[in-house]
Amino acid sequence: MMKILLGSSEVHPYSKTGGLADMVGALARTLARAGHRVGVVTPLYQGIPGRFPELKPLDLPLDFPLGARRVRGGVLGLEVERGLTIYFIDQPGFYQRPDLYQSHGTDYPDNAERFIFLSKAIAHLALHLSWKPELLHVNDWQTGFAPLFIHHQKRLPGWGNVPHSCLTIHNLAYQGLFPAGQYAAANLPWEYFTPDGVEFYGQMNCLKTGIRYAGVLATVSPRYAREITTPEFGCGLDGLLRHRRRSLFGILNGVDYDEWNTSNGPYIKHHYSSGNLRGKAANKLELQREMGLPEDDAIPLFGSIGRLVEQKGVDVMLGALEEMLGTRLQFVLLGTGTPVFQRAYQQLARRFPSKVSVQIGFDEALSHRVEAGCDFVLMPSRFEPCGLNQLYSLRFGAIPIVRATGGLDDTVIDVRENPDKANGIKFAEYSAPALAKAIRKALVLYQAPQLLHQFRQNAMAADFSWKHTATEYLKIYRHGMEGEKSLTESC
Ligand code: ADP
Repeated sequence: MMKILLGSSEVHPYSKTGGLADMVGALARTLARAGHRVGVVTPLYQGIPGRFPELKPLDLPLDFPLGARRVRGGVLGLEVERGLTIYFIDQPGFYQRPDLYQSHGTDYPDNAERFIFLSKAIAHLALHLSWKPELLHVNDWQTGFAPLFIHHQKRLPGWGNVPHSCLTIHNLAYQGLFPAGQYAAANLPWEYFTPDGVEFYGQMNCLKTGIRYAGVLATVSPRYAREITTPEFGCGLDGLLRHRRRSLFGILNGVDYDEWNTSNGPYIKHHYSSGNLRGKAANKLELQREMGLPEDDAIPLFGSIGRLVEQKGVDVMLGALEEMLGTRLQFVLLGTGTPVFQRAYQQLARRFPSKVSVQIGFDEALSHRVEAGCDFVLMPSRFEPCGLNQLYSLRFGAIPIVRATGGLDDTVIDVRENPDKANGIKFAEYSAPALAKAIRKALVLYQAPQLLHQFRQNAMAADFSWKHTATEYLKIYRHGMEGEKSLTESC
């Protein structure tokens, strides 16, 4: 049995803007169900107490220096199930806001303080919880300072054993870069603010801090783990990542199949299975109706769910749709993001009202219905650390059309790779014509019902369950516990 504390700025089902939340929520549950003692530290955002009235204040007062001032807070606990406690950091000034990170597309100006405070709280609980966590697993830039706080604590007189640490990089493109002056909020010696530590070309880099000081590093797919050690995908940190290569592991995220389930999932009207796909056809008609498109099972229905940002290839998708909308197909989009992309897709829907329907917003229930109703799902990402939607699409029998990058390449099988196991369509070049060509292949597949059925069977049989992912994490936790000694000595 291991004692593991996770730290994250979002955790499903309490808060979510992306895959990070799904991963932390599911990893915590899976580890707890395997008999480990697990805690998760995360902010108490607006709306959480109302949705989870069983939250209890814990006797763990927080009172930290934050630059020149002191900031107090509290901790509320939620016993989710045996062996799993969520520790919500209650600091209303920082976290009681309508959104997690930004307002109307602009980052909150005090994000450095908000997440350094969170990192301090995580490190504090890692050191002071009565059940003495032995491994601290933090995620992304928002919690990147926690391994440094632990590292620093270890150097102070009187500290013996501190927890070992692991950092998962969910997306290297988001590093938490702030002006150097914000480092004052960490209340740490300036000796860490060097190119070998916190500093990144004169700025404070929260993710780099985690990469530098965490004992072991993970990212969310094997291909992305390789990609980020190259200048093309390394976002300026490839040198450091190459240096830490022996401690960097690619572990695919899993899927919570209790939730993403076609035979009894909560949001799907007509349940179905690989043995009986009639429900899928009925869901398609429901989705067409809901999205205001002509109801016709014979028209191939494409979908897309996700953040409308450049990373996701939304520009390429616009171009490919322009090229393809002359043919007989429909397209539904559920997403939110950069206003210019939102407007562009809304305009497309206005120009092609019987072919394109766009829902701007974040809607978990609708995301299930899109996966259940669509024949194909598009993911033309420029880069994709893991990607979850293609995994949901596979399970829901919606054939993923993906660019061969990162986790998309690791999880989808193209007919050229393995004709018997093919479950999706891949393309390599990041361009609208390349995606349009992949869409044409999908249209051909749609006209070949037996082959389409085979693709669907292969897709729905693919298994990315959390048990495997959690086992891989336990392995690297152990690796970190054995290897950290040498790292500490070299710092
Ligand atoms: P990322 O973390 O880069 O946004 P992932 O594919 O790893 O991308 O995870 C995205 C997660 O967020 C998936 O669970 C996806 O279904 C969900 N999601 C993204 N946008 C929306 C939306 N507009 N409505 C509902 N769910 C969404």
